[in-house]
Amino acid sequence: MARKTKIQLKAEVVVQDLRDAAHHWASLPVEERARRLQGAGRAILSSAEELSCLLSEETGRPLTESYAIETVGVSDLFSYWCKRGPELLRPRKGQIPALDMPGKSGLIERRPRGVVGVIAPWNYPVVIPMRAIVPALLAGNTVALKPSEVTPATGLWLVEKLRSVLGPVVGILEGDGRAGNALIKARPDMIVFTGSTATGRKVAVECAKQGIPCEAELGGKDCAVVLEDAPLERAAAGIAWGILHNGGQDCASIERVVVHARIAELFERALVQKMRSAADFIPDLATEKQKEIVVRHIKSAVDAGGTILTGGLPEGDGPVPPTLIRCSDRSCAAWTEESFGPLAILDICGSDDDLMEAANDTSYGLGTSIWTQDFRRGEKLARRAKSGMAWVNNHGFSAAVPDLPWVGASDSGTGITNSPEALFHLTVPRLIVVDRAKGVEPWWYPYSDKMLNLMRAAVERQRKGGVRATLKTLKALRARGKELS
Ligand code: NDP
Repeated sequence: MARKTKIQLKAEVVVQDLRDAAHHWASLPVEERARRLQGAGRAILSSAEELSCLLSEETGRPLTESYAIETVGVSDLFSYWCKRGPELLRPRKGQIPALDMPGKSGLIERRPRGVVGVIAPWNYPVVIPMRAIVPALLAGNTVALKPSEVTPATGLWLVEKLRSVLGPVVGILEGDGRAGNALIKARPDMIVFTGSTATGRKVAVECAKQGIPCEAELGGKDCAVVLEDAPLERAAAGIAWGILHNGGQDCASIERVVVHARIAELFERALVQKMRSAADFIPDLATEKQKEIVVRHIKSAVDAGGTILTGGLPEGDGPVPPTLIRCSDRSCAAWTEESFGPLAILDICGSDDDLMEAANDTSYGLGTSIWTQDFRRGEKLARRAKSGMAWVNNHGFSAAVPDLPWVGASDSGTGITNSPEALFHLTVPRLIVVDRAKGVEPWWYPYSDKMLNLMRAAVERQRKGGVRATLKTLKALRARGKELS
């Protein structure tokens, strides 16, 4: 047997410590966990300035954006889950048919999974892991966080803050991708992964090998669809922000824009103007590797006959400027691959069908936005988007609303964060049935013609319904009961 690496041994200790802490944590009433979590939320928010500065230092983004996207987002998470969670986790009564199965009652409880491993990306190092950590803890799980090596200080700060209030119900495994792999191999009870599609696939394979469930939120290639009646000013401002916030390093960044031919010229001009005026607020790309990808994508669009409307290749070692390229060749890398930078490709179409066909022409499926003044038409087209989320006259902001599911499709993964749906994934149902009936059940041995009659009557009742069929079942039940008594 191969010797275990240092990081593997560390991962096993982290998971074991959390397993030891899990029993007591899960045994607390959910209201008590909510109360303690509220205290942790307050502790984080009382250091809001320190956290936001640390975030900006590690990610290079403006302080305002750190506050807007992460710090405010975290406060909403605590207040939503601590208020809604106890009600969502309340056991529910199962419905058991009284005629066929008298005397029985069923209760479905939501049980924590145990130890949840959260593997997080660097681009939102607080709010993304916290979207899993807060509901996971509330549900009675303990959590091991593997932050990105690009933002290690933020991850550590977060875990220390949580531990200072909650005790050892949160742990951390620091390091690069090998630490993530070691965490999975240490066999927590579930992995919540957020990151690129390529890494997500490796993580899913490793989870399958270890026999543990995996929620995967992966990359995106979102599209904004601009109809001919779009509110021009709002659409240009919203789409410029959608392309450029956090330097375009957002899974739901708008990387493709498709515009109705009738307003194409006007819209292009408005969007270019908004993108140019945002240049001062855009952080540089986080890694050299990321910059290389964006540069390759710009070249691919130009080689495919694209026209640069603003921006273009960086000058020397300088940053990639906000870039918009009109290009109708949808086979170039800038259209097909996730860029994760301040770059969008724009294409022009002549009808709703063509616009939606272009928007859906991607292997990804995170978000699509439709921009129009006709809300009903917008909603109708939103339903034709193949992505997990579609917005009319906005893009991506719903990530900040804890009650709304953040969910992808296809290459964007099918994991869910936020919303009651995510809470159900972080727990497993446990069924408790109590039977107060006396005597033997009609379906127990010995089998006989009377039992067969009863089963036939039951099927007929399901098929036809009505009083006659019910009476027939009752008669068959009585006959079978007599036989068994
Ligand atoms: P990566 O996929 O590179 O990394 C994500 C996390 O996985 C990091 O902590 C990373 O560690 C870790 N990791 C790397 N290799 C492995 C491995 N073999 N096993 C286990 N863990 C591993 O993503 P980025 O951090 O670069 O984040 C950007 C990507 O995340 C983009 O594609 C973006 O679209 C996507 N994303 C998706 C979101 C969604 O909700 N759908 C939200 C936010 C981002 P380390 O960084 O230390 O190498």
